[in-house]
Amino acid sequence: MIEPSSPLLVQVRGVHKSYRSGDTQLDVLRGIDLDLEPGAFVAIIGQSGSGKSTLLHLMGLLDAPDAGEVHLAGERIDNLPSARRDRLRNTDIGMVFQAYHLLPELNALENVLAPLLVRYSMAAWWRVRSEAKQRAADLLERFGLGGRLHHKPRQLSGGEMQRVAIARALVAQPRLLLADEPTGNLDEASGTGILDALCELNRKDGLSIVLVTHDAAIAKRADRIVRLAAGRVETL
Ligand code: ADP
Ligand code: MG
Repeated sequence: MIEPSSPLLVQVRGVHKSYRSGDTQLDVLRGIDLDLEPGAFVAIIGQSGSGKSTLLHLMGLLDAPDAGEVHLAGERIDNLPSARRDRLRNTDIGMVFQAYHLLPELNALENVLAPLLVRYSMAAWWRVRSEAKQRAADLLERFGLGGRLHHKPRQLSGGEMQRVAIARALVAQPRLLLADEPTGNLDEASGTGILDALCELNRKDGLSIVLVTHDAAIAKRADRIVRLAAGRVETL
């Protein structure tokens, strides 16, 4: 875990990202600057193809910028060796996507525990197992899934699956939650439930959240809205 040495949780500085296919180069991000204070709730909006997911992936260390830097709590993280990057993703950054990416053979509780299983050796896991299970069950309970711990994903509704995915993103107690169109596959009522849960995590627990959406009404739930257009950000 990175020790805090900056008042900012995330700093994105001069980030560029292009994709090449054949002879053509697509300049998706053309100099992005973005600051996130601890406890912030920021929405990133922009048209489809404007680079929202690309930017979120760079912040979540799923990809690296071509130029520029990403800092977490004052430490540069975009150029870390892959083992440290994977570890940081497992400990400090939770991610939620439009598709829930739950493992179909595991039940809700096991899906939530999966990031912890990856982290510990077998021997260490046996020591932390009961506490981890309790934390996972508590999270599912909090998201209204106390009666669904042993349900497989196929036995859950879309909104329920997304709440399992959020619990999984939070089980390691990250300091940052990145959510990419988390309500994109849901009906309005289920989507509102997910947004309510994110708002509560921000307001009550002080969790820092970056929410990507193409929907201006959803973005209004955040404290701050930034728009991506032509590869740059503008604060609204
Ligand atoms: P958004 O999330 O705002 O819809 P994305 O960040 O997914 O936009 O994509 C931005 C642009 O980059 C799109 O035109 C997309 O087709 C392109 N793109 C995204 N990922 C890749 C990739 N891995 N290779 C080539 N082009 C990509
Ligand atoms: Mg996207």
